Amino acid sequence: MIDFIDIRSDTVTVPTPEMRKVIANAKVGDDVFGEDPSVNELEEYVADLLGKEASLFVASGVMANQISLHILTKPADEVLVEGESHIFHYEAGAPALLSGIQLKRISTEKGIINESDIEKCIHPDNEHYPNVSLVCIENTHNRHGGTIIPIENIKKLAKVVKKNNLKFHCDGARLWEASAASGINLKDFAKPFDTVSVCLSKGLGAPIGSLVASTKENIKSARRFRKVMGGGMRQAGIIASAGLYAIKNHFPLLAETHKTAKLFAQKLNESEYINIDLSRVQTNIVIFKHSEKINSNFFENECSKNGVKLIQFGENTFRAVFHFQISKQKATKAADIIKSVIEKNVTK
Ligand SMILES: *Cc1c(COP(=O)(O)O)cnc(C)c1O
Repeated sequence: MIDFIDIRSDTVTVPTPEMRKVIANAKVGDDVFGEDPSVNELEEYVADLLGKEASLFVASGVMANQISLHILTKPADEVLVEGESHIFHYEAGAPALLSGIQLKRISTEKGIINESDIEKCIHPDNEHYPNVSLVCIENTHNRHGGTIIPIENIKKLAKVVKKNNLKFHCDGARLWEASAASGINLKDFAKPFDTVSVCLSKGLGAPIGSLVASTKENIKSARRFRKVMGGGMRQAGIIASAGLYAIKNHFPLLAETHKTAKLFAQKLNESEYINIDLSRVQTNIVIFKHSEKINSNFFENECSKNGVKLIQFGENTFRAVFHFQISKQKATKAADIIKSVIEKNVTK
C-alpha cells in the first residue's frame, strides 16, 4: 500500500494518540439536558476565546453557518455573500431550503468585500425589492486560496452594516488560521459580528464539530434551531473533549503549517508548467494552475499513482492544503512528485 501524502484538505487530519486518550477519559452527560460537562466547558471556552457571551457546539461547519443564517434572517430576505463563498458554493442550497432566503453574490479579488459593494446592494424602500438583512464574510477565504480578510476591512464593513441596520456573520471555519498568520487576536477578529462560526475538524485536527458564537439570546435561538435540524446530541462530550484538546494543543501549531505551505508553493512554482499567485499563499492553502498541455484528470491520477492526493479546483486548477500532520519533508516530497509528473507528461 502506498503511504499517500494527502493534501486534498485539512479535514483529513486524524486524532492523535494523546487526543484519543482525552476522548476515552472524557466526562459526559446528556447535552440536550445541558448536562454534558465537556460540551459545556468547550462552549464556554470558545465563547471566551471569541469574546462572545455564549457559543453552541454543533455537528459541522455547514450546520454552524446555516443556524447563523436562520437566526439572523426572515424568509424572503436577501443575504449578501462573497461570490466564491463556501455558503454559496458548498452548502447544498441549504439557505433556500432551511431559511427561505436568497443569496446575492459579491465578486471580489481576494475575498475582500468593500463598503461600496454593500452600499450598492441596499435597495430603495420599495415593495418590489427583497429585504437585505445580512452580510456574510469568510475568513480565511477558502476558494480565494486561504486569504486573510484584514481586520481594518472588517471594521469598515461593520460600520456600513450598522448604518444600514443589517446583521453581520463571519464564516470563520478557518478563523484560527487568520489569527495564527496575522497575530491578531481571535476576539478582535470576531468582535464586529453578530455570529461567528468556527470549525474544529479542519486544521485543528479534531474529528468532528463546529461552534457558533454570539449573544446569549441568539444562542438560545440557535439551540432551538439545532434541535429542529436533528442536531441535538446526547453524550457529545466524547467529541467535544477532542475539540477542546485540539484548540489547546494544535492551535499553536498552525503558524508552522503556514511556513510549510509557503515552502511547498515556492518549490512548485519553480516549474515552468505551474503557476501560483504567491500573494495568495497567506495561510495553509495553496491553489495552483497547471499548463494546459496536460489534462487535469490525467494529472490528478498520475499524482495519485505516485503517492500524492490532490483535489481539482476549477479549470486546470488544483488545491493543496496543509496541516500539522504533514511535515516539511513530506511537503517538499509532494512538490517534487507533482513537478516530475508534469514534466514527464506535458506534450511539448
Ligand atoms: C469546511 C468549511 C465549512 C464547513 O464545512 P463542513 O464540511 O460542514 O465542516 C464552512 N466554511 C468554510 C469556509 C469551510 O472551508
